[in-house]
Amino acid sequence: MSMDSPATFQQKFKRQLTRLYSNLIITPCLLCGQDAKDGYLCSACLTALPTFTQACPRCAKPSLAEALCGGCLVQPPARTVTRCLYSYEPPIDRLIADFKFHDKVFLSRFFAQQLADKIISESQPLPRLLIPIPLHQNRLKQRGYNQAKELSQQLSLLLNIPYATDALSRIRDTEPQSGLPLALRHKNVKHAFKANNKQLPPHIALIDDVLTTGHTAEIAAQVLLAQGVKQIELWTIARTIRHY
Ligand SMILES: [Zn+2]
Ligand SMILES: [Zn+2]
Repeated sequence: MSMDSPATFQQKFKRQLTRLYSNLIITPCLLCGQDAKDGYLCSACLTALPTFTQACPRCAKPSLAEALCGGCLVQPPARTVTRCLYSYEPPIDRLIADFKFHDKVFLSRFFAQQLADKIISESQPLPRLLIPIPLHQNRLKQRGYNQAKELSQQLSLLLNIPYATDALSRIRDTEPQSGLPLALRHKNVKHAFKANNKQLPPHIALIDDVLTTGHTAEIAAQVLLAQGVKQIELWTIARTIRHY
């Protein structure tokens, strides 16, 4: 199986150099324009971001008890763990739109760093492979890059877990889920993915930018389970909360 390798020595060296450089120059915060030492956000904007907490650990449906939700007790999704960094609300929605649609690919480094810090702080066994939710070829050509792949690449460097862009393919050019009513979303992504590799590690994480209804991740996870994967996590930058 071909996998994109985790951090090579050169990549690590380049990252150290970039960090050193960004510590020496002062860059404006992407949100307020004040000085941002890390090159992304000032410390005030960083601490004010809407951290996503109190959710069902399996599906990430908001729940005050942080216990398995009713839905997961009755009909659990294919994934066993969902980790989301932020609530999808201002200013995260704007930062993700910049990352996804406005060529600010460098934001993958910021989001990956925050997500990696969260993952490490939770001290759970790490998956052996990261799999970005793929875009269809047509969408990829249109946008020029897959934001989930960019995020996976940065997470791979930070967590030293390989990522594979060839594990899953998107075989149907589906409508963007965001433009569809909830009732049609499951139908829209049904049969959207195909698994390509015969051999995958037993524990993997799917990577995506935003979790909304979870239909896309569910279909992808089902395809991977059928391929022999035993444990699937879903990691996203943000989780929409308006559906609850
Ligand atoms: Zn700021
Ligand atoms: Zn749940």
